Order: sequence, then structure tokens, then C-alpha cells
Amino acid sequence: MPIPLVNLRKQYDPLKDEIRSGIERVFEGMQLFLGENVQALEKEFAQFCGAGYGVGVSDGTAALHIILRAMNIGPGDEVITVSHTFIATPEAIILAGAKPVFVDIDPSTYLMDVAKVEDKITPHTKAILPVHLYGQIVDMDPLLELAHKYNLRIIEDACQAHGAEYRGRKAGTFGDAAAFSFYYSKNLGAYGEGGFVTTNDPEIYRKVRMIRDHGSERRYYHDIVGINARLDEIQAVVLRAKLKHLNEYNQLRREHALLYNKLLQGSVAITPVERAENKHIYHLYVIRAPKRDELQAWLKEHGIFTGIHYPVPNHLQPALKFLGYKQGDFPVTEKIVSEIISLPMFPELTEEEIEAVSREVNDYLVNH
Ligand SMILES: *Cc1c(COP(=O)(O)O)cnc(C)c1O
Repeated sequence: MPIPLVNLRKQYDPLKDEIRSGIERVFEGMQLFLGENVQALEKEFAQFCGAGYGVGVSDGTAALHIILRAMNIGPGDEVITVSHTFIATPEAIILAGAKPVFVDIDPSTYLMDVAKVEDKITPHTKAILPVHLYGQIVDMDPLLELAHKYNLRIIEDACQAHGAEYRGRKAGTFGDAAAFSFYYSKNLGAYGEGGFVTTNDPEIYRKVRMIRDHGSERRYYHDIVGINARLDEIQAVVLRAKLKHLNEYNQLRREHALLYNKLLQGSVAITPVERAENKHIYHLYVIRAPKRDELQAWLKEHGIFTGIHYPVPNHLQPALKFLGYKQGDFPVTEKIVSEIISLPMFPELTEEEIEAVSREVNDYLVNH
């Protein structure tokens, strides 16, 4: 039996009745956008995170973009973030008209190296945008101190961190606002597109709500220029059904990670580091291995499907060439992206599957 990187079907089966009857009710009422399910989800997911306010939006990229717009960050402004992230992070900054300024990552967690951020601050810097990549929260205390010292905004990219914790608090509560994605493979995933913004700031909340719906609070009366980034009711039904189980899904991912760590111990593979103050929720289980591409091909031949998140860092992407970065600018990022490989990880993964994957990885590393 092949082992996929993620298996959505297994999560659907036990939720089938609840999701189907919820969707049926949406069709009966024909309130398709921003209706009772979106409103309920906004309360429920904000509460899950421990944030004051929540806004459902169309996707995670829009969530980041809308937050920047709500903070009036645009042309002439700089936002400090990492190169080692999905392109949506710098893309949102560019869409807002601002300039992403990259910083290297920590070689053990692969997250923003917070010690390198202060050097990047200029008179144009308006915000720091840490990315809680793979499901682990960036070291927020020093960042919050910097933000205070230089009067900067903090925007969390929590698109891979639904339920991740740092010093006992969940992602989405540290910065001025946070963006979540409900892309289907995320720890909380829709059956289509979805995203979310959390904030404790009533003014940001008000503006984010307006911008997602053409800059209006009242239909056809537009106070600011917004976009169309509404969340639909069908996705909200799916998300509410899954949200009830998110803690349990995250716990299972943590248990799977522990088992992988144990079974891969003693090999040359480098397993993920969970910092003491963190609760990692393993959106992805990423190891580092020599001859990574050959390992990936070998695993595929043996029916095990993996991913590379991400093979080309943003500062070397053709699309972002105009930013002026070059090879060698971020040595840690460049080294790590050549070694990382994401092993199968989803809550319904079985012990036997984790054993089979680990056995193949160990076999390959011993014999090649
Ligand atoms: C998924 C993701 C996004 C974008 O979310 P979409 O819903 O796909 O637009 C942004 N940042 C990171 C780190 C992501 O993983």
C-alpha cells in the first residue's frame, strides 16, 4: 500500500454526516457567503486561538495582504520576513505595494533568526512578519521587544500553525494581527479555499472586515478600496466540523513525530528540533538528509510520497529577482533547502506506516 504525504479521505469519513447535513442546510437557506456558519466560525476559531477578534477570509494569502492594507503598509514601506517560506508571504507584501526584506533562518529550527532582525531595520521598516513554519512558533519575546523599541507592527504568518503554542499561548495572539490559511492540507483545512485573520485590535478588526468585502460596511457604500476576499458558508461548515477535533489531530501529529524521531535516531538524518518553550504541531515533519533528491526518488519507488518545503528560497525565485538578492545572501537558508525532505504526516497515519517509512529512510541512508 502506498503511503501518501497527506490523506484527506481518512479525516472525512467520520465527519461525513455532520458535513453533509451542514452543507444541505446551507443549500436550503441559500445564504452562501458570510452567513451564520462564517459568523460562528469567526467566534469559534478566535476563541480556539485565544484572540479577541476573528475574520474569515478567502485564503491565507488574502489574509496577509488584507492585514498589511489594514495597517496602511504600502509603497515606500519595508517588511522584514524570511526567504525560507512559501512564496505567498513575500507575495502579500508586494501586493500591498511594500518591499519584503529577507533575513536568514536559525540552523536548528529553520525559523526566522531573530538575532539577525535588528540589522535589517531601516527608517522605512514598518513591520516584522515572522513565519511559524512547519508548525512551530518563532521566538516571539525578542521580536516583541524589537517591535516595541522601534515602534514596528508584528504580523504573524500562522498559516502552518493552527494551535501551535509558545510559552503556553497559541499562534495568532502574539502580534498586532495574524494570518491563517485553511488550504486543504493545512492542520485545519477546507474543501476549497479559506483563510482567517485574528487580532486583538478593534481598529484592525474593523478595517480587515471592510477590506475583505470591497471596503464596505454597508452594501454598495464603500469607504475605502478593498478586495473580494469573502469566506463562503460551505467551507465554514467543513471548518467548524473539523475545528472540534483540531486539538486531537494536533496531538496525534505530535505523537507521530515522536515515533519518527525515535525510529530515525542513530541514522545520519537530522530530525526536527522542538524548542523547550514551544508546542510544535507538525504541520510538516521535516528531516534533513544527505543526497536528498536521491532519497526522495528511492522512497517514491518504494511507494512513499514525500515533499520538499521549499526547494527554492524566495530570494532566488525568478519572480522576485527585482528585489536584487543573489546566491550567497542567506547561507543557512541556502544550505538547508538542499537537505530538507518532508515525510508523510497527517493525524490518521498509523504506527505501521511510520515504521515502514522510517525503515526505508534508514535503509537508504545506511546503504547509499
Ligand atoms: C499556505 C501558506 C500561505 C498561503 O495560504 P493560502 O491559503 O494558500 O493562500 C501563506 N504562508 C504560508 C507559510 C503558508 O504555508
